[in-house]
Amino acid sequence: MEARILELRKELREHNYNYYVLDNPTISDFEFDMKLKELQELEAKHPEYYDPSSPSLRVGGMITKNFETVVHEHRMYSLDNSYSKEDLEDWEKRIQRNLGDVTVAFTCELKYDGASISITYENGKLVKAVTRGDGIQGDDVTNNIKTIKSVPLQLKGDYPEKFDIRGEIVLPFDGFLKMNEERIAKGEEPYMNPRNTASGSLKLQDSSIVAQRPLDCLLYSIVGKDLNFETQFQMLEKAREWGFKVPTVAKLCKTTTEVMAFIEEWDVKRHELPYETDGVVIKVNSLQYQEELGYTAKAPRWAMAYKFKAEQVFTVLNEITYQVGRTGAITPVANLEPVLLAGTTVKRASLHNADQIEKLDIRVGDTVFVEKGGEIIPKIIAVDFTKRPADSKPTEYIHECPECGTPLTRTAGDAKHYCPNEYGCPPQITGRIQHFISRKAMDIEGLGGETVELLFKEGLINDYADLYQLTKEDILPLERMAEKSAENLIKGVAESVKVPFERVLFALGIRYVGETVAKKLAKAYKHIDALKEAPLEHLTAVDEIGERIAQSVIQFFANEKNLDAIERLRRYGVQMSISAEKLQNQTNILQGNTFVVSGVFEQLGRNELKKKIEDNGGKVGSSISSKTTYLVAGDKMGPSKRVKAEKLGVPIITEQEFLNMLT
Ligand code: AMP
Ligand code: ZN
Repeated sequence: MEARILELRKELREHNYNYYVLDNPTISDFEFDMKLKELQELEAKHPEYYDPSSPSLRVGGMITKNFETVVHEHRMYSLDNSYSKEDLEDWEKRIQRNLGDVTVAFTCELKYDGASISITYENGKLVKAVTRGDGIQGDDVTNNIKTIKSVPLQLKGDYPEKFDIRGEIVLPFDGFLKMNEERIAKGEEPYMNPRNTASGSLKLQDSSIVAQRPLDCLLYSIVGKDLNFETQFQMLEKAREWGFKVPTVAKLCKTTTEVMAFIEEWDVKRHELPYETDGVVIKVNSLQYQEELGYTAKAPRWAMAYKFKAEQVFTVLNEITYQVGRTGAITPVANLEPVLLAGTTVKRASLHNADQIEKLDIRVGDTVFVEKGGEIIPKIIAVDFTKRPADSKPTEYIHECPECGTPLTRTAGDAKHYCPNEYGCPPQITGRIQHFISRKAMDIEGLGGETVELLFKEGLINDYADLYQLTKEDILPLERMAEKSAENLIKGVAESVKVPFERVLFALGIRYVGETVAKKLAKAYKHIDALKEAPLEHLTAVDEIGERIAQSVIQFFANEKNLDAIERLRRYGVQMSISAEKLQNQTNILQGNTFVVSGVFEQLGRNELKKKIEDNGGKVGSSISSKTTYLVAGDKMGPSKRVKAEKLGVPIITEQEFLNMLT
């Protein structure tokens, strides 16, 4: 019996591959269904042969109630964007400057517009699939991904023992249109566009619904240890051999001219593709050069997205409304006559600020030109003055906060107007609390933005410190609040006291103090009391902290309300200093020194090495200059780096010599 089960699985796997990856079926749908049915019956009778990679599991049926958060073993980066030949040439020059006098080739691929995914394989079997999330951690959507027929559950060939493969989940146009026809027939609202529908599908609780959606998965990169390829192009070929769907459009290009030719060709031909694309991704082909180039805070230096020209349409501006953000910043919003643009219905567009309105001379009743690039929010680029109604009046910017009536202020140099009523303006109060609980800040589970608004409306919270004194009895009477969700909320709040100081600092919502600045401040001051007392000159001496940020920090701590909230948070146990363990691993030994790291190392990974430098007060530079103190040279370092270091008299040290500096 086992033999028959194994045989059926093998056959079905092969047919799935032929049909969904190669697009070249060799048996009829009917024959396929019969085999699948036989397998399902046998598996039901013999649960002892259960295999999580069986093709029978493609039909789904697993329910995921809560998608577990998973930290990516290898971070998922974003991509830098370019829009012209000049942008690309600049990028190439930067690369050449960085790598020195070597020949660089590029792999060009299409940029698929869907939801990114990272799938882990171990011993040839799919073990986990995680959404990109914020790049550092995402949601475990394994059950849903397993239902996508072009995703192999079992690999073939000489695959590595363990790796992550990255790709994009897309919903091809014909499948999307069919889904919408069915929805319309049932009297339901049609979906807006394929991309959002694809990413929404990943978070459906019932995987059998996902199984019915004609999703596809296109792969483009592999990360892991001991992978046996040297170039991006080889990587794509290997992935294809192991059974993954990797579009064959990818092309190896030797020059920017060839890259441009690829872009021009596909800017036209993409309209014939079955799925959405929004550009081309150009990658340095050699993986060693990729490694040498490394990453900025957001994106690889070795890759660049070229965005196809945005699509544009005309429509009428019906009204300008004003939104108040958590910092009190006012954003004017254009409410448009709904219009179809790049596959989505557009109703609103941001107008940014008063200057923008003045510059465009935009008025209610105007016919405007709307553009949408890859970004979600469309922009207004121009007004068609020939269509302006005769009785049109210039737009007068508001003077008072639309939410609380306070006169708005605008400081010289600031593009935006602000509502100064920080502690009395409802969207500012709730916005601050929503920021506090958000994922990158305190990451409070069981509490969402709408609940914050409700709690505020009911008078239960007025600032973030109030969250910590909520009791189950307080919140149970609220609308839609069940016993379980009340408990989860209280538990989530209680657990947030473990969140490290740097994130607490970010969560406080000090204007201009984003994630990175919060990290720098936490590292420099170590304790909230030290930061509270820091004078301007001291703050601006911290790396990357300018006058504007420093002033904002001082202002924040000058406010009694903030000091009071911090005291209360401290009493509830929220972290107000960096942990003892972290303190131990950090020193200032390397202060004032800038290191450039190049090549491959034995004892530490390149990123660990960089972290060690920063943890000990040093700086990491990306290219050698007169400001470089040391070049840490590993194996396979580019020869040009050595030449440059020698020319500038920068000492070249080994990994071991570097480590000796720390002891
Ligand atoms: P963005 O979301 O605009 O920062 O663009 C980065 C995203 O493009 C990545 O996270 C990928 O999900 C996606 N992407 C689509 N096609 C490719 C490709 N061929 N190579 C790399 N990334 C791609
Ligand atoms: Zn206000």
